[in-house]
Amino acid sequence: MNTVLLTIDDVASRNTPAIVDELCSRGITAIMFATGMNVERFYDEALYAVRKGMIVGNHSYSHPAFSSLTAEKGIEEIRKCEAVLDRLYQDAGVVRSYRPFRFPYGDKGGENKAVLQRYLSQQHFDKVNDRHIPYSWWRDNGLDHDIDTLWSFDFEEYRLQYDPSFTQEDIWAKTRQTNPKSGAALFGEGQRHIVLMHAHDETDAIMPGYYRQFLDCMQERGITFDKPEFIGN
Ligand SMILES: [Zn+2]
Repeated sequence: MNTVLLTIDDVASRNTPAIVDELCSRGITAIMFATGMNVERFYDEALYAVRKGMIVGNHSYSHPAFSSLTAEKGIEEIRKCEAVLDRLYQDAGVVRSYRPFRFPYGDKGGENKAVLQRYLSQQHFDKVNDRHIPYSWWRDNGLDHDIDTLWSFDFEEYRLQYDPSFTQEDIWAKTRQTNPKSGAALFGEGQRHIVLMHAHDETDAIMPGYYRQFLDCMQERGITFDKPEFIGN
């Protein structure tokens, strides 16, 4: 078995509905981590994702690095996004069953980490079931206890828009690595991942239909997609 739980960050965007349609046609349910700011900007696109059955989770309001914020400011970022998502689900006419959270940049807040984890727990954010993630570094870093959801494989396609030395071939090379210096190979018997990609129109302009290419790449290699599950909190 080589399985993936798919997560898509920075929703919503102009290309969100096309991503959602692609996922629906393949029978994949993704967790889409949205910023409040992007949902307000692309509200219809975000509504579409909710109505089509994707799980839209909290990725803060304005995508700050949490270690640069006070705990109070960090909590305010989470609360402000929650208010936007509550309204979104209500407007979509869909019951909001799950509240997963992901920190922007995977930055868990530095010295405020414990305070923020406690807040997430007290507010009943839902921990994504990661008990099947087999890598020792996942447990060694305490990721199996954190309420927020990190990832175990990142296509890094967002770098195309910022880093001229980073190419599409670098993305494919990463998918082919069998023994990476950090993290774990995408493919291989027993590999089980939480995979990260992004909903970025900027990436679509450079690498059209990048999400389709990534899904093809994974499905051609026999990966099956996990339905999102949550551990009670
Ligand atoms: Zn992000």
